[in-house]
This record gives sequence, C-alpha cells and structure tokens, in this order.
Amino acid sequence: MPSQTLEQALASAANAFFACSDTAKLDAQVLLLDVIGQSRSYLFTWPDKALTAQQQTQFEQAVARRLAGEPIAHIIGYREFWSLKLKVSPATLIPRPDTETLVEHALSLALPEHAKVLDLGTGTGAIALALASEQFNWQVTGCDRIEDAVVLAQTNQAALEIKNCRFVQSNWFSAFSTEQFDLIVSNPPYIEQDDPHLSQGDVRFEPLSALVAPDNGLADIRTIVNQARTFLTSGGYLLLEHGYQQAEQVSAIFLQMAYKDIRTIKDLAGNDRVTLARWYG
Ligand code: GLN
Repeated sequence: MPSQTLEQALASAANAFFACSDTAKLDAQVLLLDVIGQSRSYLFTWPDKALTAQQQTQFEQAVARRLAGEPIAHIIGYREFWSLKLKVSPATLIPRPDTETLVEHALSLALPEHAKVLDLGTGTGAIALALASEQFNWQVTGCDRIEDAVVLAQTNQAALEIKNCRFVQSNWFSAFSTEQFDLIVSNPPYIEQDDPHLSQGDVRFEPLSALVAPDNGLADIRTIVNQARTFLTSGGYLLLEHGYQQAEQVSAIFLQMAYKDIRTIKDLAGNDRVTLARWYG
C-alpha cells in the first residue's frame, strides 16, 4: 500500500477499530503517535504529512495487533498512570484510572512524616511509585508474588528515578516477619471466576492471577485483611480496591476482623471502589 497521510492513516484505522473498540479514534491516535514519535498536536498541525514507508509498515502492524484484540498498552509497551509513564508487560495487570482513586486517598491520609507504606501485588509498581513520587519522605515497599512483575516494577522505578521505594518478591506477606507499616494498600484480584467480563476486551490479555479470586472474588481480600493485622502499626491504615458491587461484603470482612473507622470511597465514575479502615492492635 502506498504511504498515507497522517489524516488518512488515522481515518482508516479508526474506521477499522469501530467494530472492536469503544475508543476507536483515540486508539488510532495513540498508535500513530507512537509510530511517528510525536505528541498529539502534531497530528492536527500536519495532517497532510505522509508517513515514511517504514512508518506505514509499523503502523499497519500495530493496527493488525489491535484488530486481533491486543490492548493498546501492550502494543506500545507502556501506560500512563498518575502521570507516570510505566512500562507494561503481559506478566501484570495494565494500570487503570480507577486505581488512581486509591492513590488519591492514600495521599490524603495524615501519616507520620517518614511513614512506612506497603503495596501488596504491585504489578508494574504503579501504586507504590505514584505514592513514592508524591511523598519523598515516605518509605514505600512494593511486593509481588511473580518475579517478572518485581523486575518490571524495578525497571519502572529506575526509569522514573524514584529513590524512596523498593520492590521485593513476596506472596502477600510471606517475605515479611517483624516489619510494621503505617499504611498498607492493595489492588488485589477481586473478579469472580465466571464473570462474563473476563472473555471480552483487554482483560483477555492480562494474567488471570491478577484478576480473579475464588469465593466470589473475595478470597484474596479476606486473606489480606486478616494477615495485615500483624503488620500494621496501631492506628495504621489498610486501603483496598475492590469491585463496585463488593463494598458491603468488604466492609463486613473488615468489621469481622475488628478494624475500626471503616469507610467506602467512590471512584470518578461514582462507583464504590475502595475501602479504608484502621487497625488499633
Ligand atoms: N478493575 C479491574 C477490571 O474490572 C480488575 C482489577 C482487579 O481485579 N484488581 O478489569
């Protein structure tokens, strides 16, 4: 195919994406900008500029991958979260804007100046790095059971030059023994095994181990709420993301484990998304 102009390339890709993506135009823009290495305004300033033959080929390959269902983040290799550019891989969940609600609330807590913070199941390192990038005095630890995730999070940390953060391999709390944290956060797996949402869209390309939990999606949340009691300072906070229909059940788990000040927080779409509670051991 002869090289297209930017405008033509965008229009033909967006047209092809309409059948498979709710964000067809945006997908086309993000892929094209990645191929030409420019920022968004370039597309509107130079719509008649022609792609080079190499750019045309690269763009066609990227479009074909998207048409096969692959998430945009996997095709371009990164995703922005909390304005941090994070490398992603099929080893972890792709960070989602919903999880920024958790970061926002963690940052609003009145913690000691040199607070110790733990992010369980850190994946790309998104939550840990966002917190460490905002609060230079916090000592943030991110952990993940999967070695590839720990390496990915460390790669992101190095690229972002964030110093007050470390990543360790741990199956929830297995690598910790006597440490105490002022704040423990997590976006654990919480989707039910037979949720039809799992066979549609981007989630098909993400690891099930990061998405699905037994016991109606609540098994890992229950484990974390239970075990965190040993690792929280008195008055320490536990802040967990969960499904928007799980708020009542999650609050009940916190209550059953004798946490206090239990509170549910809504995400930007107005859905119950995060539950916060304190432990007075
Ligand atoms: N919110 C994500 C989704 O619905 C799931 C994230 C998770 O399980 N922790 O795809």
